[in-house]
Amino acid sequence: MKNNRINSTRTPLYRDAGFELTDADRTSEAFNREAGHDQEPDVFIYSRYRNPTVIDAEITLADIEKSKWALLTQSGMSAIDTALSVFQKKDDERPWLFFSEIYGGTNSYIDNVLIERRGINVERYYPEGHDYDLGQVEDILSKKKPSLVFFEIVSNPLLIVVPLRELIELIHSYGAAVIIDNTFATAHLVKPLDYGADLVVHSATKYLGGHGNITAGAICGNDKQLLKDAVEYRKYTGHMISPDDAYRLNTQMKSFSLRFDRQCSNAAAIAGVLNKKDIVREVLYPGLDSHKTHDKARQIFEDRGYGAIVSFSFDGENDETKRKRRDSFISSVSGTISLVPTLGDYHTILMPVEPVWGYKYPDPGMIRLSVGYEETEELLNTIRSGLPAVD
Ligand code: PLP
Repeated sequence: MKNNRINSTRTPLYRDAGFELTDADRTSEAFNREAGHDQEPDVFIYSRYRNPTVIDAEITLADIEKSKWALLTQSGMSAIDTALSVFQKKDDERPWLFFSEIYGGTNSYIDNVLIERRGINVERYYPEGHDYDLGQVEDILSKKKPSLVFFEIVSNPLLIVVPLRELIELIHSYGAAVIIDNTFATAHLVKPLDYGADLVVHSATKYLGGHGNITAGAICGNDKQLLKDAVEYRKYTGHMISPDDAYRLNTQMKSFSLRFDRQCSNAAAIAGVLNKKDIVREVLYPGLDSHKTHDKARQIFEDRGYGAIVSFSFDGENDETKRKRRDSFISSVSGTISLVPTLGDYHTILMPVEPVWGYKYPDPGMIRLSVGYEETEELLNTIRSGLPAVD
């Protein structure tokens, strides 16, 4: 792609809603080429279709994901909607299978949009005992014959890791497509397309943006037809990211790997500290030997890290004591670690689990930490300073 660069090393921010097409021949050529829904043409028409600043950010993302293509949308939810919708075909009544351990917003979208409005036939897989069972998945695949399966590599807030290779092979052997939300593990830890996934989505609001200041989503893939279908769907539904957000996201993604690597090592250090405290009943971190899916995590993440989320739970004689300890911790670290309902920010933030997931994970002492890239010893001191206050 050619840019109007003036001794500049970067693509400018093109805020044009529409681009100049000059004459009728050029207009007709531009619209003809656009009809193929290709990412390639360097003649732009309208920013909801394609925009040079957005494409530049998509090239950065495809390089991170090592995918043939990447598309950006205005939110993780619009990326999920796009990735799923390209598989929706008129008259195809085969169900879609969703794992239950996925983001709550995705579960609400499934209930309220896919089932209630679109009438999609949805099946769910509920793993027992906080681990995945390939036999149970196979049972559903053979009985229900879904056309696609959707899951997350690392669940939230229990951080259960899937047996990725076996799962994708199994699903494909039953002829279903695989869509994976890899927001938590990110391409830094694992690239699901290398394992044969059909599409990967991210809430780029989280680690890819990494500064808590952009809402965005991403879809990555290798298949050319899926690219065309996704570009078309994004264009017609208006799920396109704005050039301003794409520009900022592009800049912030340049440091993604550095940031996330440090966030993972900080998270491992925090998990180690919490794990030694009697007052802490349980530390959920896939990097700990004690985590139920540690072996699966080690297999697919190798030595790259175990993610930057740590969930832990205060012990106590009863629910009230546990809640008191949780609240005391939250208030004593609040000068440094804020309670913010998101994750993946560059600084550490936290969420009490019960008020958000109480119906699903009713543990009154549980806190989910989204670990940032602060100086490690300072961060550990903050965590330690919160613990005695609990006693
Ligand atoms: N996927 C996961 C795993 C998430 O945690 C979230 C949001 O928290 C989303 C998707 C939705 O992303 P967004 O809020 O950017 O729409």
